[in-house]
Amino acid sequence: MGVGVRTMVRRIARLTFFVLAALVLFVTGLPPAVPAQVTLEDVVFRSLEITAELRPVPYREICERVPGTPPGTPPACRITSFGSVKGRTVAQLQVTSPTPVSTVRMFIEPDYSLKTSSTPPMTPRRDGSYWVLVFNPALAPGTTVSLTFEYEGKTWPVYEDFIWVSAGDLYPIVVSPFGDFYSPNRSFIKTTVTAPIGYILASSGRMTRQESGGVQTFQWESTEPVASISVVGGKTYTLAERKAGDLSLTLLLRPRSDRFADQIADFTLKSAQYYSRLLYPFPFDHLTVLSAPFGRGVLGVGYPGLMMITEDAFTGGQSGDLSRDSFRLLTIAHEAAHTYFPHQTSGRGVAAAWMSEGFAEYLGLMTVEVVLGKQAFRKELDEDRAWYASVAGRDRPVAAYTFINSGTADAAAVRYAKGAFILHMLRFVVGDETFQKILQTYATRFRNQSVRVDDFAQVSSEVAGRDLNWFFQEWIHDIVLPDYTIAEVSSVPAEGAFRLTAKVRNLGSGVMPVDVLFELDNGERVVQRIDVGSRTEVSVIVTAPRPARRVEADPEKWLLQSNYTNDAATVR
Ligand SMILES: [Zn+2]
Repeated sequence: MGVGVRTMVRRIARLTFFVLAALVLFVTGLPPAVPAQVTLEDVVFRSLEITAELRPVPYREICERVPGTPPGTPPACRITSFGSVKGRTVAQLQVTSPTPVSTVRMFIEPDYSLKTSSTPPMTPRRDGSYWVLVFNPALAPGTTVSLTFEYEGKTWPVYEDFIWVSAGDLYPIVVSPFGDFYSPNRSFIKTTVTAPIGYILASSGRMTRQESGGVQTFQWESTEPVASISVVGGKTYTLAERKAGDLSLTLLLRPRSDRFADQIADFTLKSAQYYSRLLYPFPFDHLTVLSAPFGRGVLGVGYPGLMMITEDAFTGGQSGDLSRDSFRLLTIAHEAAHTYFPHQTSGRGVAAAWMSEGFAEYLGLMTVEVVLGKQAFRKELDEDRAWYASVAGRDRPVAAYTFINSGTADAAAVRYAKGAFILHMLRFVVGDETFQKILQTYATRFRNQSVRVDDFAQVSSEVAGRDLNWFFQEWIHDIVLPDYTIAEVSSVPAEGAFRLTAKVRNLGSGVMPVDVLFELDNGERVVQRIDVGSRTEVSVIVTAPRPARRVEADPEKWLLQSNYTNDAATVR
């Protein structure tokens, strides 16, 4: 699509602001909300039955040179064609609040025309970009309401060559009084979509498809309650099927974008198989991966059993080093992990965004480690280290970023990069085996539930057999950043051996265990783990058969630090 793709990407990038793999598109930049129901979880959609007609159009835009700009400046473009959606959603809404609920806040594309009705009856009222459904009398706890929404209007992108409709434009969603609407609630979703003949569409769940009267009807049914779904596809796609063990995979490929299709299929299946071993069997026996015209703005988007991956990953068109295998695998494994987090276990409250992106990123890194080895893992981990370093010092605690204020580039670095490192550091603190057991216990125990950070912290402490609240306090609720340095070293003969001493200082903040490595003159390594509080110094003394030639704090660089250049000292 040439310029069109770039415009689309700019628009996607503006909507999501995500630098790395995005999870959801819908609504950033909406006006602040006025309290309605008390929390997002006062009401839950137990099921959604979506029927929609998609009316795609050719993509069109007008590009004009901006007067007064220097030659070579890209023209300003605006989209002039919009496809549309005509839909009807029947939702079963249940009151989960312990007290009566009189108002329910909803979001659907504000430009749509909308008709709502319900049993028992309610009065809908427009509130900025939202709809507030007012029930009088208030709904008693436990009540189930059947709501019907009929809507129609233009949305984006619904084009011949790329369609992506989801929560907010394919169907309405519940929004919290604070504007959070990546709902922690999961529903059984049945989706029926009609589209012109010739389109290939994909969504989550089991699919059936029929053609009649010049249109085709797709139907998907989720076998698991899920947090959200989307319908994606277009006219120019071709299908390729793959299989590995019990898992089958469909690739939706764009023209001339199949260079890495086999590798992407292989990586996707390996990711799902790894998660099946690490957590619990992959919730879908069928996966779909669609090559999406995201350009440089977005790398991927993960829905339950359905992933969109940038077309550049399929063509190898990513610039320079980004076309490396480990980066491609990380992108895919990250999106595949979203099938678990947040679609099976959704975060809520503070750090909800971390519980989705931080987990997806670190599970993605773990997949790279298992599939491509330690070195590839370290390469990708170091990219996240550098990404967080680019914002460290001006960032806020992980807990401070909610869905409302997590759209900035700084917030993305915290949610993804620092988010992944928090799990990496937890792994360091408790050890590999315990860490894996924590992940498995957490994922299994809280499958099909919404959880808070405290739930994860509690499982961590329980599985590790010790209180780890200090860890989550430091890394989620506070801002800490250690900086270990070796202040003094000595290596002296003592009783037929050598007494090696190192003074380790933490010039930064936070209390973490840190490994101290004594490298002996024959290359042997002696490692001692210590705790060094903020602005304090700890002496480590070990007895070794040979003198030391070098001492290094955090030799494997497990920890986030503000400065890695002062970690080592040579013994003179
Ligand atoms: Zn993600």
